[in-house]
This record gives sequence, structure tokens and C-alpha cells, in this order.
Amino acid sequence: MKPSSPAQGPAEVDVVVVGAGIAGLYALHKFRSRGLTVRVLEAGDGVGGVWYWNRYPGARCDVESVDYSYSFDEALQQEWDWSEKYAAQPEILAYLEHVADRFDLRRDIEFGTRVTDVVLDEQTLRWQVDTDTGRALTARFVVLATGPLSNANTPAIEGLDTFAGRVLHTSHWPHDGVDLTGERVGVIGTGSSGIQAIPCLAEQAQRLHVFQRTANYSVPAGNTLLTEQDRRAQKADYARRRQLSMASGGGSPHQAHPEPALAVSEQERRAAYEKRWALGGVLFSKTFPDQLTDPAANDTARLFWEEKVRAVIDDPRVADLLVPGDHPIGTKRICTDTNYYQTYNRDNVELVDLKTTPIARIDAEGVHTTAAHYPIDTLVLATGFDAMTGSVARMNIVGRDSRTLNEAWHEGPKTYLGLGMTGFPNLFNLTGPGSPSVLANMVLHSELHVDWVAEAIGFLETRAAVALEARADAVAAWVDECAARAAGTLMTQANSWYLGANIAGRPRVFMPFVGGFGVYGQIIAEVAAAQYKGFDVIEA
Ligand code: NAP
Repeated sequence: MKPSSPAQGPAEVDVVVVGAGIAGLYALHKFRSRGLTVRVLEAGDGVGGVWYWNRYPGARCDVESVDYSYSFDEALQQEWDWSEKYAAQPEILAYLEHVADRFDLRRDIEFGTRVTDVVLDEQTLRWQVDTDTGRALTARFVVLATGPLSNANTPAIEGLDTFAGRVLHTSHWPHDGVDLTGERVGVIGTGSSGIQAIPCLAEQAQRLHVFQRTANYSVPAGNTLLTEQDRRAQKADYARRRQLSMASGGGSPHQAHPEPALAVSEQERRAAYEKRWALGGVLFSKTFPDQLTDPAANDTARLFWEEKVRAVIDDPRVADLLVPGDHPIGTKRICTDTNYYQTYNRDNVELVDLKTTPIARIDAEGVHTTAAHYPIDTLVLATGFDAMTGSVARMNIVGRDSRTLNEAWHEGPKTYLGLGMTGFPNLFNLTGPGSPSVLANMVLHSELHVDWVAEAIGFLETRAAVALEARADAVAAWVDECAARAAGTLMTQANSWYLGANIAGRPRVFMPFVGGFGVYGQIIAEVAAAQYKGFDVIEA
């Protein structure tokens, strides 16, 4: 047990928020402004969540800075100056620290405090929250703001623990940075994190071995510095941008082409793809409205992508390995890079194809594949996350009848609207399974969820009711609806972390709500307007 946190507040509060990332910070501000007593418990020693931990070189957001920022306070929007179109990790972290200071949030956050248990007292309908510092709180409401991508996945590779060199995980990069000059570096993993880190690592390392099991689609970020004129224009346009974003499929103001990909001429289609390519990054998968539902439409995007990428890779055999052949484009999150494919033209970079020569084991000196031994000084694991449910599953959450959330979710997460769970009254999960989650802009999504929970708490107060609890029939219907919507797309065809496919033993369930951010916002607003239909409102 760690020593007790110095920030000791009241043991009884209205709301405990778990996590001081984007959602947790806003939750604290919002609930506090509603007159509620709030404590935020945060495992890290600072605010920022993923942006606190993921400090690997090249870490950068794939949503434009102007959109990946809070909308709740006009003065904040106007005073903060983003320096780049797609901000890098240090700037996003500085922004979140600024928000914490500006709204005086730190006094209600207990850092270095990891929640271990969240247990319901069925008599009082209060939650007891225990932590690894020994600090315990009770609360009427518990809000899980742990984030869908916060529980690192370290692969079970034989001998990893015998490696004598340095092992780093992209999601827990040392805060003081790492000097890899002159080193032989190995990277395992070519998802978004690996693809961003690899070009930077290649510049430092004497030799870089990239161990690739599955190729991914990556689109250049097209990042640029913002000028003062850009910033002025963006700030003047916030109201429109936000409105479009809230109604959109993914939480940004860019609209898909009005017609399906195959309904337009070849010339028009190419022009649309070129425009998205120039915009950069993840939105390429939403150039046309049917791109993720119609295989033929998807193919037009894939072929455009392939032509662009092959053009910048010198060795056609290397290009063959870097072009995915196992899933439609966009069915895993499209990665966003800066000079990723060009990095393989460097003399000091080697791509190791684990499909044909898998890793057999790791020893003290390096990595053995079935074909060769690669001596390595530093091994970088860019192996992702136990996503969507991983951080929630790490806590022992115990609801009615002593049933744990892990038991309730053993066949896959079961929620109503992503927010509520049967047997867990007044426990709200933010931006997790059953909501658009990682398919949307996480900042606006966090605001949407926090505002909804704040309204729900207000509703209980006006009714002098004590709790809101998702009904079992509503949960079942929502789970079915989410599954049916996913089945109507190509998204279930990839072995993605959206489906838990990257973690052995996880049930294969498409976890995010795929129906669009705007549509989802309407659904949860309608539920609230209908007196929280689908929830039991528990009277005192
Ligand atoms: P990821 O997409 O899950 O990628 C993990 C990589 O590690 C995959 O290439 C995977 O290969 C590989 N891997 C895992 N276990 C392995 C093993 N035992 N042997 C060999 N390879 C192994 O994780 P991520 O790159 O951290 O990205 C996760 C998500 O975080 C992204 O999709 C994105 O939503 C978010 N993210 C966003 C940004 C951004 O804003 N630009 C940056 C970083 C992360 P397989 O595919 O074969 O399993």
C-alpha cells in the first residue's frame, strides 16, 4: 500500500470521478459548478490522462487542434492559441494543465491514487471507493472517466523478462525523454503509436528494426504550423465548427461528400480523395458516406491510398509488406503519420515481417525470429491497449447482489447508451463501450457525456429521487441495436481492438456505437427528455 495522499478531502462526497484526463477534468468543473462536492482520483501524478502518459516521440493528435479542445467556455476558446494544425503531445498536455489551473481544478484532484475497488452499499445506495493509497471515500455517484485507451497491452512474448536492455512501452514513455543516439533499437507494433514513433526513432537510432505483424493503413497528417491569421479565422468560426461537429458522424466539422463513392465520376471521386488526403489523417476513411458500408466503395479508397503510398516507398518488396491485405481501409482506425513510409527508404531501417518469420522468443541480447537474431539495445513496445473495457476491468466494481461488473460483462460489455449498467445504480461510464467513444472526437464526446450526467443528477434532485439505474430490457435492446448497427458496416471485418481482437480471451464484440456522434447525441437527449426512459428512477 502506498503512503496516504497529502490531499485529504472529505471522506463523503456527492461524486467521485475516476481519472483526471479530458473527461475527468471537465466532469469536475461541471459537477462542482452545479454545487456538488466532487473528488477526482487519478493514478498519475498530473492531469491529462493519455496525454500525460503517452509521451513517445512523435505523439500527436489526429483530430485538428481547434476541434480537439473544450467548447464549454468561450473565453477559454478565445484565449488559447494552438501552434499547429495537429497538436503534439506536449502542447495538448500544456493545454490540459492550463485548463486545470484556469478553473482551479487541482484542489479537488488526488494524484498518485489508483482506484482499486468500487463497492455498492445496497442499503444506502452509496458507493465505497477504495484506493491503493489507503484513502477511501463514499459517494452517491461514481463517474468512470478512465478513458478507452489507458490500460497498456504488454505482449506475452517468451523471454521478454530476460531481455538485458531497456524496454519501453509507448504508452508509458519516460517523462524526461530517452536518448537513443547510437543505439540498436527494435520496435514491436505498427499501429498508430508505432507509426508515429518510428520516423522519430529512426532519426536517432544507429539501427532500427521494425517488427511488423500486421500492416496498417496510414495517411500523412498534413500537419502545418498555424499562422496568427489562421488562428483568428478559427476563433471567429468556433460557433459554426462546434455546431457542425456535434451533429456530425465523428465529432469534427468536416462533412462527407454528399453522394456515395460509386455514384460520382472517377474524376470527382479522385478530387474528393485528394482533398481529404490534403486535410490529413483519419478523416480519409469518411470521404464518402458509403465507404465503410459498401465493399466496392471502400475499394476505391483503398486503391487511391495504395497508389499514394507505393509512390513514396523505394523498394517494391518493402512496399508489398507495408500494404495491408487483410482488412478494408478504415475498419481499423486509420493511422496518421509524418514521413512513415519514407522512413523505410533509410539505410538504417529494416522492416521485419513477422507474418512469414514470427518472433520465436526474446533473449538477453535481442529478438529471435524464426529466421534470424536481431541484437538490440532498446526494445520499444508499441503494442497498444486492452482497449475500451481494460481500465474499468482493472477495478473491482461490485454492484447489487455482490455481482461484479466483470461478471456482468464477461460476454462483452453490456450498457444502456454506454452510460448506465443494470445493477450499478448511479455509476456512469464515460466515452466507453456502447457510445461512439473512440469513433468520435473525444473532447466533445466527453463534454456530451458529462453534460448528460449532470442533467441526470439535476433531474434526480428535482424529483427528490436517489438513483438512476439502467433497466435490464433497455440494456438488452441497446446491446442489440449496437450490434445490428455494427453488422451493417464493414467494421466487423478487421481484427481490431474495437472488437477486443487484440487481447487473448476477450469476447469478439464490436464495442463502440457506430451510428454516428450526432445521432447518438440525439438519442441520449431524447432519453433525457422522456424522463430518462429505460432507466429506473429510484425514489428515496
Ligand atoms: P494498436 O493499434 O493496437 O497497435 C498495436 C500494434 O502492436 C499492432 O501492430 C499489433 O499487431 C502489434 N502487436 C501487439 N502484440 C504483438 C505481438 N505479440 N507481436 C507482434 N506485434 C504485436 O495500438 P496503438 O498503436 O497504441 O494505437 C491504439 C489506438 O490509440 C489507435 O488506434 C488510436 O485510436 C489511438 N492512438 C491515436 C494516436 C493519434 O491520435 N494519432 C496515436 C496513438 C494512438 P497486430 O495488428 O498484428 O495485432
